[in-house]
Amino acid sequence: MQAESSHLRSTTEARRREFERLVLDVRGCFACDRMAHSHVLGEANGSLDARVIFVAEAVGRRGGAVTGVPLTRDESGKRFARFLELAGIPRNDTFVTNAVLCNPLDKLGRNRPPTPAEAAGCRPFLARTLDVVPAPLVVTLGRVALESLRAIAPHDADLPRDVATPVAWRGRILIPMYHPSRQSTLHRPQSAQEDDWRRLGEIVRTHLKRAERITI
Ligand code: SF4
Repeated sequence: MQAESSHLRSTTEARRREFERLVLDVRGCFACDRMAHSHVLGEANGSLDARVIFVAEAVGRRGGAVTGVPLTRDESGKRFARFLELAGIPRNDTFVTNAVLCNPLDKLGRNRPPTPAEAAGCRPFLARTLDVVPAPLVVTLGRVALESLRAIAPHDADLPRDVATPVAWRGRILIPMYHPSRQSTLHRPQSAQEDDWRRLGEIVRTHLKRAERITI
């Protein structure tokens, strides 16, 4: 028992040290030139022991680029908070990150979607984040995140077909969701998205209850 708890402590400690290295590596990265280099990754993203990790698209100029925390302050951040509330998932129990850790801007200084090359460039950081945050439930928010995960390890998930549906991925459960931006309601209506988030809450609670039963 003592050996087991000391092993767990050393594993946790190793992950914490690896996360510190990762954060430093991200801060030193300027590979993409059409970005505001906000490098949003750090302790404020959440606990390394979170049971749920959310992966969104990229840092927003009025959100994470200002606060240093993904999906906060701007409209997408406020919508994400409301969706979490609908799902009954406390943000403190999650880790939230982006497929692209800086803020992609267009020539007029507005948010733009990251290019496939930018997402590919940032992918090693996402893969390392998924290693140090071994949450059993991985929730992607939007297509960019879903495709980034597919490039890390293949999966069969299709966003319109599999939204709010658990899909096996690398010994974890992947759940594709739409991005919480208002624009996403052009592809899936608000009321359907609210149902998706309620379903996500049920999936998370069912999975965690089952996992507790197994560990007891
Ligand atoms: S988005 Fe990622 S790959 Fe591009 S500069 Fe920022 S940290 Fe580096």
